[in-house]
Amino acid sequence: MAVLVTGGAGYIGGHMVLKLLDENEDVVVIDDFSTGQEWAVPAQVPLFRGDMADRSILDAIYSEHDIGSILHFSGSIVVSESVDLPLKYYRENSCKTLELIDYAAGKQTAHFIYSSSAAVYGAPGLEPVTETAPSAPESPYGTSKLVTEWMLRDFAASNPAFRYAALRYFNVAGADPLMRAGQSSGVSTHLIKIAAEAATGKRDGLQIFGDDFETPDGTCVRDYIHVTDLADAHYCALRHLRAGGPSVVANCGYGSGYSVRQVVDAVKAVSGVDFKVTQAPRRPGDAAMIVADSTFARTKLGWSPELDNLETIIRHALEWEHKLIDRQIETSAK
Ligand code: UDP
Repeated sequence: MAVLVTGGAGYIGGHMVLKLLDENEDVVVIDDFSTGQEWAVPAQVPLFRGDMADRSILDAIYSEHDIGSILHFSGSIVVSESVDLPLKYYRENSCKTLELIDYAAGKQTAHFIYSSSAAVYGAPGLEPVTETAPSAPESPYGTSKLVTEWMLRDFAASNPAFRYAALRYFNVAGADPLMRAGQSSGVSTHLIKIAAEAATGKRDGLQIFGDDFETPDGTCVRDYIHVTDLADAHYCALRHLRAGGPSVVANCGYGSGYSVRQVVDAVKAVSGVDFKVTQAPRRPGDAAMIVADSTFARTKLGWSPELDNLETIIRHALEWEHKLIDRQIETSAK
């Protein structure tokens, strides 16, 4: 049976499509191209353009394909924007997912994998966080993810034919090692992407938001996970559900934390470019440290990440940034 990937033209969804193709799965993509790129979807993949909660498009997909599982990546992801536009986040991330779940269950689609976030934890303290830690999101973005997890939990409890995996992403970065995909959307707020843009001259430099946190060097500590390992985690979750395993909630991070300053220094070292770095005030809502305890994914889902190395993540992010520059030169020369 085919796997439907929502947001399959986007950053993480795009890497998932590659993983599924590498595994010889039948893949179908739906994307509204709000941030995704059409060229990111391999030509052999059936592609539907539109809103993943639009029943007429879902009808078209289901009439042509036998969808056994949905991997649901599309959604809105900018934490600061969610503070200004909370209803957008509840609509995009929660309400539309409800519609999708409802539709999928009506069509007997049995497995649903949801892109959740470490943002459901809020500010969890200075230890690696397990899935059983209290959920206390500090932004409408985080709350919209948590509400959706709860919908999935309650719906699955009422409907044993439907099982789900909610994967809580930590800080996703890097690009496909073969350079078939990477982070391409125009505006980025994420540290490694911004640092890669600074190193390749796309932006003047980088600001470090806050140096007075309770961390060893005063800057925030995060758990950076390679996007290809994250796609692997989804495939492990899919295998788990297909094998009859119960619904799960799983952290996706490595369990090792790096400070903003360590990341910036590593990007400078790997790129060989000493780009400008300035100190700026704290960004509202940033927690001092968020690092995953990923024992559950490793032991219960059989996840065995292969790219757990900050330099590798940065090298791939930089390579992809160069590729984007080459592509732009190519496009503008046409
Ligand atoms: N950060 C920074 N400068 C930037 C972008 C991010 O200092 O230009 C910091 C941010 O304040 C946070 C960390 O880098 O402490 C990771 O931020 P990112 O937006 O990548 O992910 P988040 O952890 O917020 O989801």
